[in-house]
Amino acid sequence: MSKRVLVTGGAGFLGSHLCERLIGQGHHVICLDNFFTSQESNVAHLVRGKNFELVRHDVVEPFRFEVDEIYNLACPAAPGHYQFNPIKTLKTSVMGALNSLGLARRLGIRILHTSTSEVYGDPEVHPQPESYRGNVNPIGPRACYDEGKRAAETLMFDYHRQHGVRIKVVRIFNTYGPRMHPFDGRVVSNFIRQAMAGEDISLYGTGLQTRSFCYVDDMIDALIAMMGSQEKFTGPVNVGNTDEFTVLELAKHIVSISGSSSKVSVGKPLPADDPTRRCPDISLALANLGWKPKVALKDGLARTIEWFKTIRIADFKPPTPNY
Ligand code: NAD
Ligand code: UDP
Repeated sequence: MSKRVLVTGGAGFLGSHLCERLIGQGHHVICLDNFFTSQESNVAHLVRGKNFELVRHDVVEPFRFEVDEIYNLACPAAPGHYQFNPIKTLKTSVMGALNSLGLARRLGIRILHTSTSEVYGDPEVHPQPESYRGNVNPIGPRACYDEGKRAAETLMFDYHRQHGVRIKVVRIFNTYGPRMHPFDGRVVSNFIRQAMAGEDISLYGTGLQTRSFCYVDDMIDALIAMMGSQEKFTGPVNVGNTDEFTVLELAKHIVSISGSSSKVSVGKPLPADDPTRRCPDISLALANLGWKPKVALKDGLARTIEWFKTIRIADFKPPTPNY
């Protein structure tokens, strides 16, 4: 059955893929975005087609639409983006969640909230299961994002308990793919940009810190499976790839796949509170959604590098100076 779906942050990296997939499934999508970390070009192909409405709006301000489902993605996600205006980041997380929840409550509809592995902070438990309560520094430079996302989860569960709102909470681990902002400062986009330009690869710290990288198509499968899952399954559920790599290994893969002559340069300082290890325990997603990632890092990187070759980097403006 065709539904009307609201996607906040729908013009962003994950949001644009989600909108595309939902439209492909025959749904009507309202994409709400203030374009802080994205540009209309991400969804220009959807604007030209059917079943897509683009609304410029800030989730901090209330909004109302007659829809059947809400995916709440609006929030800067890359460290350089969310630290640019930390107070705004916190407001976006908290007010965006409140406004989305208010709408979901009024309409009696499902709301899926995109939380993050950052709720675990610099984890002392490895890999991280949903039951782990995390190790977040509440006053550090990442706190605006981490604590904002934690508060948004609290709101989700309080609206669920207090008002019976139909919630779905997903904790997303590092995801990459086409339409990442080339200047978002994230590790995959930085390394690909540098490798393509033959510049030194900017390794922060020793490069021995780990991450587990999920290809965007796998992530969208998971978000849609979660929205359609049985009513009682609220999450939070971890979604991500379980293949763990050091950042140094990632750098070597990117240099090799792109056939670059770049050298991996060490010596840049590790950002404050940078988590040393990160890898999801995805048993809950497997058991409840029958979901596990399919795309291996090398294949996903090859597709992402191909996309970077098709864009004109000059068309993308850094949203912040921190890239
Ligand atoms: P993104 O920055 O590409 O997308 C976020 C979108 O939200 C952008 O289009 C941006 O313009 C919009 N936005 C930001 N503030 C807004 C506001 N106040 N009002 C309206 N729109 C606003 O990032 P992404 O990687 O696509 O992330 C999407 C969601 O997934 C975020 O909530 C993020 O926290 C979460 N997430 C992503 C990752 C990842 O690895 N990509 C990991 C964990 C969680
Ligand atoms: N990183 C790096 N060089 C870069 C960008 C990031 O070494 O140019 C490291 C960063 O310190 C972190 C990891 O790569 O350990 C992932 O960083 P990213 O900003 O992509 O996401 P995070 O998982 O930290 O939110």
